[in-house]
Amino acid sequence: MVDAIRSHLPSEPRSAVEERCTHALRSVDLDPGVFRMYAHELSGGMKQRVCIAIGILLQPKVIIADEPTSALDVVTQRQVMETIDRVQDEINAAVILIGHDMGLMAQFVDRVAVMYAGRLVEVSTVREMFTEPSHPYAQALISSLPNLENNGVFQGIPGLAPSLLRLPSGCAFHPRCGKVMDMCRTVRPETRVLASGRTITCHLYNEEA
Ligand code: SF4
Repeated sequence: MVDAIRSHLPSEPRSAVEERCTHALRSVDLDPGVFRMYAHELSGGMKQRVCIAIGILLQPKVIIADEPTSALDVVTQRQVMETIDRVQDEINAAVILIGHDMGLMAQFVDRVAVMYAGRLVEVSTVREMFTEPSHPYAQALISSLPNLENNGVFQGIPGLAPSLLRLPSGCAFHPRCGKVMDMCRTVRPETRVLASGRTITCHLYNEEA
């Protein structure tokens, strides 16, 4: 924590640095005494919170949280996400949450961007994404989620994600897409605006095609 402050504010006095650190620790519901503890003395959830505290030390405008709850049990996951939610309000920052857990996304984000093979294939509000996803990959992701009507048979997506070094021609999703057309195999789809704030990268929404 001290290194993060020192690298941006080298002339900050020692007492101010410590005050900044203990304030950040309190913001993530940790005892200020954690400032003097070693990493091996902290639980997984406490370590994640310290990482969030490091992230907010300099009052950023944007926080990029890349898989912030991976390897945590669901109770700790919820606590960590609530902490991010609260500090976001406190410092008025935007949060970009990166992850694979669509259920977690549904609870915490306003807008979702689905990425496949390094490209954004659909961007929409969380409600639109979960009620009427448009891109075949987004549709497959949503239909693979467990729900109360599903009696234990989960719908997977056939095939594997491609290597970024050898992307398929045309649309990178075409070998796995249930709606593939001839042009998908050769022509790379452009990103189009589907509606206000909603974009899609798929030939199905290309009127000329
Ligand atoms: S461009 Fe074609 S292959 Fe790609 S997602 Fe759309 S329909 Fe499927």
